[in-house]
Amino acid sequence: MSRRLVVVGGSDAGISAGLRARELDPTAEVTVVVADAYPNFSICGIPYHVSGDVQPWQSLAHRTSADLEAAGLTVRIGTRATAVDVTGQRITVTTPDGATDTLAYDELVVGTGARPSVPAIAGMGGPDGLGAADGVHLLHTIDDTHALMATLTGRPVRSALIVGAGYIGVEMSEALVARGVTTTVAQRPAEVLSTVDAELGALVRAEMAAHGVEVLTGTDVTGLARTDGGRIAVSGAGLHRSFDVVVVVAGVRPDVQLLVDAGARTGAGGAVVVDETMATGLPHVWAAGDCVVTHHRLMGLTYLPLGTTAHKQGRVAGANAVGGQALFAGSVGTQVVKVFGLVAARTGLLEHEALAAGFRPVTTQSSPDDHKAYYPGAQPITIRVTADADTGRLLGAQLVGRLGSEVAKRVDVYATALFHGMAVDGMADLDLAYTPPLGSPWDAVQMAAQAWSSEHRPPAPAARAAALA
Ligand SMILES: Cc1cc2nc3c(=O)[nH]c(=O)nc-3n(C[C@H](O)[C@H](O)[C@H](O)COP(=O)(O)OP(=O)(O)OC[C@H]3O[C@@H](n4cnc5c(N)ncnc54)[C@H](O)[C@@H]3O)c2cc1C
Repeated sequence: MSRRLVVVGGSDAGISAGLRARELDPTAEVTVVVADAYPNFSICGIPYHVSGDVQPWQSLAHRTSADLEAAGLTVRIGTRATAVDVTGQRITVTTPDGATDTLAYDELVVGTGARPSVPAIAGMGGPDGLGAADGVHLLHTIDDTHALMATLTGRPVRSALIVGAGYIGVEMSEALVARGVTTTVAQRPAEVLSTVDAELGALVRAEMAAHGVEVLTGTDVTGLARTDGGRIAVSGAGLHRSFDVVVVVAGVRPDVQLLVDAGARTGAGGAVVVDETMATGLPHVWAAGDCVVTHHRLMGLTYLPLGTTAHKQGRVAGANAVGGQALFAGSVGTQVVKVFGLVAARTGLLEHEALAAGFRPVTTQSSPDDHKAYYPGAQPITIRVTADADTGRLLGAQLVGRLGSEVAKRVDVYATALFHGMAVDGMADLDLAYTPPLGSPWDAVQMAAQAWSSEHRPPAPAARAAALA
């Protein structure tokens, strides 16, 4: 008899699991239940639809429903799982017409993802709070995107406030500026993009300002209210103004209710605890993506919700659900964001994270050119390399450079080195590509590593090998 695999969630984790399961076991009956109507959509692309770069919104689909069907997945949209009966191996669902149904499984993969965090702002949330109809938006799903687009196209929108200057906040500021909206970004921390050190966050902030974005840091938005003119009055420390639209992007929290009700344990960030096989500890129940903890190769268990990770974890869960022996190798926290003409990227740990993980981190900042200075258009890339003072082991790297300076691929070199536990001075031995219009005999990645080595004089190779062993 063929194996029945049920997948809850039809985004990066759930679809990756279903596809991998069918790939390894073409006889498996794979049913994916999806609460919304948008299976396998790339929510990472939402800012580029809002900006107008990606049209129509349907282009955001990684695959069409027909592609998924052709790959052997039965996808039930508008179908929300409400309970898991672990002993009876079945789930209860609410169907699109509101009826209750049950689905039996041999193996279950849960990829319910995350929900946007709603900060404590008076006048927001709750039955009487301002919402999308008033021009106050959260932004996580395709439905959220439709609601925002309805506001942006359905009424005159001249000004916008974005609450939160993480990577989605900065991407959205670019999207709204591209639409001709006067855009303000406000957040409590002292510098934008806290995924990089403040020295690099300042470069990102300058780029935003250069494109007309008003950036208010150290600003706590505390209240929202409707004005008589249909605008939104915003109050907070240092901010008492009205805007036509408010977009709140203040992070996410894992959507764990289904699994917690079924008896799963939670850990870092309130996410469901899984092992490297993506097993939840509940018999025949696997989980992946933004709803679970992340195994970090340098930090151990953490919560780091990213699309790249969700795809990999989903693939592992799907393989193991059909009898495979896959392991999630762990994240090193690699991420990248485009901010107008700049690209900001990081991998590994910031100094304070490395300290908390028990290392003795030191950081060197340098600004090597992206290619030979004699070839037109050379631009510096600001690179911060963090490594352990005792062993010289690479712990992290952060880069900010111009779009076109291959920042994303350069951070991937550090990510690869981190994955393999390399020492900083070992990076000089890497055989990296060179031609004058694109690089230098010593690539910028290597020059920044050498700057760290000359500042911190790493231990001699023999001592280093002993320390890294
Ligand atoms: C605007 C934006 C930009 C982003 N940009 C990037 C980026 O550039 N790079 C990057 O790595 N990451 C990015 N991310 C993060 C990335 O999109 C997420 O990490 C990824 O989507 C997580 O996938 P997931 O499958 O775990 O969960 P989600 O994408 O949250 O999907 C959850 C799925 O579960 C379904 N579901 C939930 N509950 C139920 C239920 N009870 N029953 C049935 N179905 C249910 C939902 O309908 C959905 O299909 C971005 C996110 C956003 C919002």
